[in-house]
Amino acid sequence: MSDSSPTRVLIWNEYLHEIENDGVAALYPNGIHGALADAFGERGGFAVETATLREPDHGLSEARLADTDVLLWWGHKAHAEVSDEAARMVHEAVLSGMGLVVLHSGHMSKVFQRTLGTHGTLRWREADEKERLWNLRPDHPILEGIPEYVELAQEEMYGERFDVPEPDELLMLSWFQGGEVFRSVATWRRGLGRVVYVRPGHETYPTYHDPHIRRIVVQAGAWAAARVRQDARRCTNPASLEPVPNPGKEHIL
Ligand code: ZN
Repeated sequence: MSDSSPTRVLIWNEYLHEIENDGVAALYPNGIHGALADAFGERGGFAVETATLREPDHGLSEARLADTDVLLWWGHKAHAEVSDEAARMVHEAVLSGMGLVVLHSGHMSKVFQRTLGTHGTLRWREADEKERLWNLRPDHPILEGIPEYVELAQEEMYGERFDVPEPDELLMLSWFQGGEVFRSVATWRRGLGRVVYVRPGHETYPTYHDPHIRRIVVQAGAWAAARVRQDARRCTNPASLEPVPNPGKEHIL
């Protein structure tokens, strides 16, 4: 968390498509989490760990999240297998200051739905169509070094309406060959934590090998990383700093 110590990144991946589908395995031989870990490693300044669904407790615990500055989340077909307890722990960690970067099909994950309070639903189509992501905020740290637009030759289409709360910051807007548009990179604050959604990353395309997308994901992690960690679950009832008429009176909270 300090300037001298590396940012502690935990990349969580469902890790089923890569095991069950040869085409996906060819694109991501070390898993999507492995490709993303490489992107953080190439940038430097990060201490990166990974966790996957089928590990005991999905590789998550309160202690591990307490030692995480930012959690990345990629899930798709097994959102229901993630325990409610894991989603609760992640939500509490975000409220206490941990960053959360939700990727692509994570829009329907328990952690995203619970943290934002909406369903995260959208329109979608798998038709090998072109995506053009427009850079709306070239001044924002997440988009440092990103050009006016980024093109992906083939991606899954996600279209509006995206069922999320109004973003605090809308950073990129996607256009798809089939005609839809989508709020593709956006941020929210929840408690003391920062939340980022980054849309591209369908498992059958080489999206996480694209240098611009890797840069956006890494910079989203750096931006969302915790500045403080503070438990805000209980109200406090402090003594006054200055003299007051009834110093011993109990406050009704
Ligand atoms: Zn997808």
